[in-house]
Amino acid sequence: MVKNKEKFDVVVIGGGPAGIMAAIQASSKGASVVLIEKNSIFGRKLLLTGGGRCNITQAEFNAKKFVEKLGKKGQFLLSALSVFGSEQMIDFFEQNGLKTKVERGGRVFPVSDQSQEVLNVLVKCLNKNKVRFLLKQEVIGFTAYERRIKKVRLKEIEITAKSVILATGGAAYPGTGSTGGGYLLAQKMGHKIIEPRPALAPIETKENWVFGLAGLTLKNVSVGVFQNNKKQDSKFGEMIFTHTGLSGPIILDLSKKIGELLQLGAVNLKIDLKPALDVATLDQRLQRDFQGNKDFKNYLPALIPQRLGDLIIKLTGINPDKKLNAINKTERKKIIDFLKGLELTVKCVSGFSQAIITSGGVDLKEIESKTLQSKIIKNLFLAGEILDLDGPTGGYNLQICWSTGFVAGTSAVVKKDF
Ligand SMILES: Cc1cc2nc3c(=O)[nH]c(=O)nc-3n(C[C@H](O)[C@H](O)[C@H](O)COP(=O)(O)OP(=O)(O)OC[C@H]3O[C@@H](n4cnc5c(N)ncnc54)[C@H](O)[C@@H]3O)c2cc1C
Repeated sequence: MVKNKEKFDVVVIGGGPAGIMAAIQASSKGASVVLIEKNSIFGRKLLLTGGGRCNITQAEFNAKKFVEKLGKKGQFLLSALSVFGSEQMIDFFEQNGLKTKVERGGRVFPVSDQSQEVLNVLVKCLNKNKVRFLLKQEVIGFTAYERRIKKVRLKEIEITAKSVILATGGAAYPGTGSTGGGYLLAQKMGHKIIEPRPALAPIETKENWVFGLAGLTLKNVSVGVFQNNKKQDSKFGEMIFTHTGLSGPIILDLSKKIGELLQLGAVNLKIDLKPALDVATLDQRLQRDFQGNKDFKNYLPALIPQRLGDLIIKLTGINPDKKLNAINKTERKKIIDFLKGLELTVKCVSGFSQAIITSGGVDLKEIESKTLQSKIIKNLFLAGEILDLDGPTGGYNLQICWSTGFVAGTSAVVKKDF
C-alpha cells in the first residue's frame, strides 16, 4: 500500500515497457521508486507485441544506422541509444535469464516465443529492486510550482515526488490502457503536442475481392504506393490480406506514407508478385511454360498461391479450361499485368483502434535528448511512445521505449539541478 502524501524519489507513471525500464533503472541507482499503472497488470500492450511473441528489439547495433530508420526525428534518439542500445537490451535480458534469438530482418525474439516471459523478467527486476507498485490507479494531474512538480494526484491520494517520469504511451490500441490521456497531462504542464496520428496501421481497400482472401499471406512480394501514377514508395517483404484490406509488415511500414499521401488525393497500391523477375524475363518464362497443352487452371498452382487462382481468372478474363498453348500475346500481357501490378485502391488507413503505434506526441524540441528531461518542468522526464518519435516494424519501437526509459530512469536520479 502507498499512503496518502507518501514521498518518493521517483514517481513513474505508466507500467508499459518505457515506464518499467525507467523504474528498474532509477531503483537500481538506490532511489525509492513507485510505478503507477491504471490497469490491473503491467505491460498489457507488451503482451500483445509481435503477435504474442514480442519482437523485443532490432539487431542493429550501429546507433547511427538504427536512427536512420526513424526518419528525420530519429537523431533525437542517438544519444539515448548510444548509452543503452539494442545490444545492451539483449544483454539485459540474457543476464536476467531470458534467452533471445534473431530472426529474419534482424528481429529479436525470446527463444520461448512468449511475450509473457519478457514481462515476467521485467516484473522480477522491479521486485528485486523493491519498486513499489500502484496498480488500478490513474494519475489525474500534478500540483506544480516554479516549474517543478511537487505532487502527483491520483483519484483518492496524492504522492510527493522529487522527480516524475511520464511514460503513459500513445493513443494506439486504446483497449490496452494507452488512451492518449498522457498527452493531456504533458499539455497541462505546458508541453506542445504534435498531432497524434495512427501509424503502422492496416489499410482498408475499395476492391471487395480482397475480403475473400482474408488470411492469405504473401511472402517475398513488393508493394508500390502510387499517386497520380507516380511511384511514391515501395517495400519488399511479407503482407497479408484481411477482412477489410491489407496488413502485415510491409503494409504497416507503408501506412504512414499512405496516410500522408491520402491528405493530398487518391492513393493506389500495386502488388508485384514476382519482384525478382522483370517483365521481359517473366514473359520469356511464360512463353516457355505455355508450350504445353495443360489447362490454364491446372497450370496456375505453379505460378501463384492457390487462393489467388480464382482471382487471376476473374481479372484476366481467361477461360480456365483454355489450353496453355492457345493463350495469345494479349492474354499473356494480362497475366503479366496481374503478376507485376495487382492494383488496389486505398479507402483509408485504419484508425487508432488497430494501429500498432502513434506518430506525433510530445514535441521533441521541448525535451533534452541526452537526459529525457523536460525543458519546461525541471523535475519531469518523458519516455516511450508519448514522445513524438516512432519507427518501422522490426523491434524499433520497443527499443525506443527501452532506451528512453533507461536514460529517463538514470537522469531522474542522477540529475540534481532541480
Ligand atoms: C498489437 C501490437 C503489437 C506490437 N508489436 C510490437 C513489436 O513486436 N515490437 C515493437 O518494437 N513494438 C511493438 N508494438 C509497439 C509497442 O508495443 C509500443 O511501442 C510500446 O508498448 C510503447 O510502450 P510505452 O511504455 O511507451 O507505452 P504503453 O505500452 O502504451 O504503456 C503505457 C502504460 O501507461 C498506462 N497509463 C496511461 N495513462 C495512465 C495514467 N494516467 N495513470 C496510470 N497509468 C497510465 C497505460 O495503461 C499503459 O499500460 C506493438 C504494438 C501493438 C499495439
